[in-house]
Amino acid sequence: MGYIELNVLNQPVAPQQQGALGIDLGTTHSLAAIWKDGRPQVLRVEGESALVPSVVHFPREGAPVVGQAAREQAIAAPKDTLFSIKRFMGRGLGDVQQELATLPYAASETERGLIQLEVHGRKYTPEQLSALVLRKVHETASRALGETAPTRVVVTVPAYFDDTQRQATRDAARLAGLEVLRIVNEPTAASLAYGLDQRDKGVVVVYDLGGGTFDVTVLSIEEGVFRVLSTAGDTHLGGDDFDAALVTLARAEIAAAHGAEVLADAGCQQALRLACERCKIELSSAPRGEIHLVIPERRLAWRREVSREEFEALVAPLVERSMAACRQAMSDAKLAPERIAEVVLVGGSSRIPAVRARVAAFFGRKPHSELNPDEVVALGAAVQAHILVGGKRDILLLDVTPLSLGVETMGGAVSKIIQRNSTVPCSATEGFTTYADDQTGIDFHIVQGERELAADCRSLGRFKLRGIPPMPAGMAKVGVRFHIDADGVLTVTAKEEGSGASASIDVQPMHGLTDAEVEGMLASSFEHAKDDFEARRAADLATEIGTMVHAVEKNLNAARAGLDKESLLDLEEALARAKAAARDRDARALQKARDEFERASLPLAALLMNNVAQKALMGRSLDEV
Ligand code: ADP
Ligand code: MG
Repeated sequence: MGYIELNVLNQPVAPQQQGALGIDLGTTHSLAAIWKDGRPQVLRVEGESALVPSVVHFPREGAPVVGQAAREQAIAAPKDTLFSIKRFMGRGLGDVQQELATLPYAASETERGLIQLEVHGRKYTPEQLSALVLRKVHETASRALGETAPTRVVVTVPAYFDDTQRQATRDAARLAGLEVLRIVNEPTAASLAYGLDQRDKGVVVVYDLGGGTFDVTVLSIEEGVFRVLSTAGDTHLGGDDFDAALVTLARAEIAAAHGAEVLADAGCQQALRLACERCKIELSSAPRGEIHLVIPERRLAWRREVSREEFEALVAPLVERSMAACRQAMSDAKLAPERIAEVVLVGGSSRIPAVRARVAAFFGRKPHSELNPDEVVALGAAVQAHILVGGKRDILLLDVTPLSLGVETMGGAVSKIIQRNSTVPCSATEGFTTYADDQTGIDFHIVQGERELAADCRSLGRFKLRGIPPMPAGMAKVGVRFHIDADGVLTVTAKEEGSGASASIDVQPMHGLTDAEVEGMLASSFEHAKDDFEARRAADLATEIGTMVHAVEKNLNAARAGLDKESLLDLEEALARAKAAARDRDARALQKARDEFERASLPLAALLMNNVAQKALMGRSLDEV
């Protein structure tokens, strides 16, 4: 997954409106930047942070509260205050059980399988919640600019976001009244912010340690063209875990001093979490920090000094987890760390000195940190927005599909149409045909994944092609075209060539995949390569047998009339065995049954060939032969 950049621009946007915003819609924070005076600039209101916490609070009455004010409500009303909304974008309930286990929200599913979070008995989709965050970001941008900010935007997403997650991000922006010019990968944006597209050649690593997630992306740049070589990460590693390490330390000591029940309620837990986060941030710039917890309602005031050494020892295992992902990304890219020309730090947690030191040591070079790591993605999005509104028209950012896409074929096998790591936009067409005589419709099942059987892949959608004129099996010519647009949204079209009958589907958000799932699916495709091969072979053999059974049964009358007793008996037995084997799905048994069946049907084939030859001969005069 990732992207490539080409020196073309397909559709410059008409300049009816001045400029466009770049928006980093983050798990923890969101912010906007814009191109001004020849460079990208973060939009911040004097005296305020540019970062809008991606948090929505629903008071019992009145309008929802978003951003910093919402974050402050987390202590008093944890259940009515929604964090980490990005984790739910484009996902179904089944995808996010792990997230829900750690968050105090009630959740349900829409009939389309999309998750909804419940507050005060009302249900909100992640798109609606993200729209509230985006609206807040836009409003902040307008206040910073002193006029209404542009409504055309470029929004960033993690490189591993699949098409349903990207689509959900687009929908959120639309709900917020924004027009999305493009969805761009976060590592791409970060590289653009550093102007790394200007360098002529080299490999760049983007290390992004945010609030709740970590990802590392290896990009090659050549003559302004970026290509993702690999990406790895951990969807549950980020600043929250660093806070949690301090919380664990503090809890034990508070419990010892004041009794365990002090920290039982959710509000106190939030207060402690925030106190620990403040201490962590302090430790990034000072050798000592302090956890200072004050809960007036409980008459609790507690302080604990933490040294940088103590903190670093606590979080060393977390830092090492991120390094394991770096090692993975390097090995996937088949590169040694010495080959890396530049390293870019992204995400607030990359400010931690121990993290920087470890990254520098691993890659053997000082990482870029001249730009604020929590602003760099928004800055890059503003560069991209500027390019798209025609200010600079030399780069187009494209993505690469994370997993292969294909359709289920007869017998449950998968025919891959777009291979994983294909650059998007892309399209590919493959020919299919009917399985039965006079079949007038085909069901298409679109799947994503590397496994050989559809049942082991992720289902993306189904649609039907109707109106195929009746004809013998195998005669219809159906072209199935997969097209992925620049935002990674997939459209599948099927068309029967003879009649022109066609049908298509836009793959709508149904289920999303986490990067962990993508990794899992890739890993399982290797793990199961042998089983899959067997299963695929079984599926293909069963299909083949099905076709043979159909042909033989159709000609059984001819066989009874024309075959000798022994051949007929042999054929009937082989037919029965083949049907039984097709039900069992054991590749070995299938192979044996297929071979026997083929052998047993040879006399019938010869008979039919003779008949056909005779018919052909009878239709012609002798001298033609
Ligand atoms: P996301 O991209 O997930 O929205 P950010 O890049 O905004 O996240 O990073 C947020 C995380 O960075 C939070 O966990 C926050 O505590 C942490 N953070 C911010 N500043 C610092 C700092 N100076 N030192 C350590 N951690 C920091
Ligand atoms: Mg981020």
